[in-house]
Amino acid sequence: MPLSDFNTIFPNLCEHLRQAKAKGRTGQAYLLVGDDIDFLERFALAWARTAACQSPKDDGTECGECKSCRHFSDNTYPELFIVRPQSKSRTISVEDMHGFDHIMGISSTPGYLKVGMLVEAERMNDASQNAFLKTLEEPPAGTLLLLLTVNPRMLLPTIKSRCQVVSLLRNKQDYSTLANAGLFKALSLLKRQAGASKGLAAAAAIGGLLAQCERAAAEAVKTAKGMVADKETDPRILKQLADEQAARVAAEYVRQRNIIIGAIHAWFLQRMLISSGAEEALLPNPEMYDGVELPQVSPDEASQDLHYMDEFSRAVAANVDIKLALDVLCLQISEKHSS
Ligand SMILES: [Zn+2]
Repeated sequence: MPLSDFNTIFPNLCEHLRQAKAKGRTGQAYLLVGDDIDFLERFALAWARTAACQSPKDDGTECGECKSCRHFSDNTYPELFIVRPQSKSRTISVEDMHGFDHIMGISSTPGYLKVGMLVEAERMNDASQNAFLKTLEEPPAGTLLLLLTVNPRMLLPTIKSRCQVVSLLRNKQDYSTLANAGLFKALSLLKRQAGASKGLAAAAAIGGLLAQCERAAAEAVKTAKGMVADKETDPRILKQLADEQAARVAAEYVRQRNIIIGAIHAWFLQRMLISSGAEEALLPNPEMYDGVELPQVSPDEASQDLHYMDEFSRAVAANVDIKLALDVLCLQISEKHSS
């Protein structure tokens, strides 16, 4: 599959990568972050094919005719090495990584780019990641390393910081309505050392949006068509109708609430990608930052905040009172630490 097949979904990113190829400035290590590992693998192969082309066009597109291109078309590219988690343990072991480092260290067939791909890179434990760091720190000339993950939080910061982070998140939702409602402005208050009052102000603003959702859900259900009761209706049926109505309101509220939670999660995930070096313009939801000042956070802090966010999502899913969970989340992030 050529890179151009991804033009519609990721026009900016594809253009960015082609330009890098055209200028002879392709990076040596990329971390591809997404929500679907198979999709990431298809994209990684498409990018490898472009990067490996021996006589690219002026705009960086692969020629389709050189030896490398033909090998990629036939799935016979000789310098492609893929490591994935072993099927039983679901881990990428230190031994796997030693083998990988060894192969990447051997010089490749002249004219061919050596491509090393780690599928589900987060399946490396700390020892495997440390073993891999050596290769990543000084990749041999003529190599391209592609790390694929759906869970970048599991990777050591030293790994992330040595890669160009590329976001391939696809569950793209348009958050401009929530942006107008002030969600991201509230989230931008949350940063280290901001203090409890900022934290609680953010929590209150988000809580206000949730309350709006609750009212909107009741409205939406009321206006939806349903059986109309009158004075003659049997009380048991009336009770049943009321119960059904309440269930529909609750379901609609959860649907709307989950969109907000998804947006908050996307905020923290993107913040982590940015702190790891991803370019803002290439992220799936740059509209979040319209008119909002993005707090500067270190990769470690961004990772930690994403972890708090995951705990929040789990708590809400387990029916913990959402206002309480919000307060906890916002206070955890904005807490003043005496250092
Ligand atoms: Zn070619």
